[in-house]
Amino acid sequence: MNAATLSAPIRFEGVGLHTGADARMELRPADPGTGIVFVLDGVRVPALADFAQESPLATVLARDGKSVTTIEHALSALLAMGVSDVEIALDGPEAPILDGSARPYVEAIATTGLRESPHARPVLEVTAPIELRDGDRAVIVMPSDAFRVRFVGDYPAPIGTHYIDIAIDPERYRTEIASARTFTFLRDVEAMRARGLARGGSLENALVYDEDGPMQPLQWPNEVVRHKVLDLIGDLALVGAYPRCEVIAIKSGHALHTRVARELRKRG
Ligand SMILES: [Zn+2]
Repeated sequence: MNAATLSAPIRFEGVGLHTGADARMELRPADPGTGIVFVLDGVRVPALADFAQESPLATVLARDGKSVTTIEHALSALLAMGVSDVEIALDGPEAPILDGSARPYVEAIATTGLRESPHARPVLEVTAPIELRDGDRAVIVMPSDAFRVRFVGDYPAPIGTHYIDIAIDPERYRTEIASARTFTFLRDVEAMRARGLARGGSLENALVYDEDGPMQPLQWPNEVVRHKVLDLIGDLALVGAYPRCEVIAIKSGHALHTRVARELRKRG
């Protein structure tokens, strides 16, 4: 597995899910060893758990007074599609939500193509199981010769309980995970707006459940837990290496995932 970057820059523009702010984002080719680095107004913020802030709704990175939120979908696509080195210039406080999934990133990466380096991609090998818990949420990371995720999501009705077990490689990620959308309950949207969140959210960029069920057609019966895998992969990108391990996640979210990434960096 070699390090790789994009063969040309990729640009996105759009509204942020939580801030509602418009932002332009450019993913630029970078030298081997760069890792994934955000460039915010001249401040370089590596996409590593060391710079992550606790946040239940999105992944936030911060350094020297600059911060960026909702970066997990971009990070997820980059990690899964094999992009180890890239600079991401962003001129707003939040990455564009686009269609709420990682599909626009994956399609752009696939169309643009990768430039492989002769150097090896950094890989995280786990030698003994690691378990982190937060109440009834848990993440267990186990040794494995491939990256595999099993996720149990459990939500109030009408979402219910969903499960997925998937070995992650670029093709499976592209066809089975990337298109799964951000999801929310309609009843939570007003509460989030009152707290200044979800300002950019709409039926165009999020799967919304009302009391009876999904308000839009589902792409898979378990689309919700597929999106949880998408988010988990984005948070694991904060390890700074390809996670060659098996991850069992039960009801976990960004806060616990960030703790896992931090723990893995300590041990890696
Ligand atoms: Zn997400």
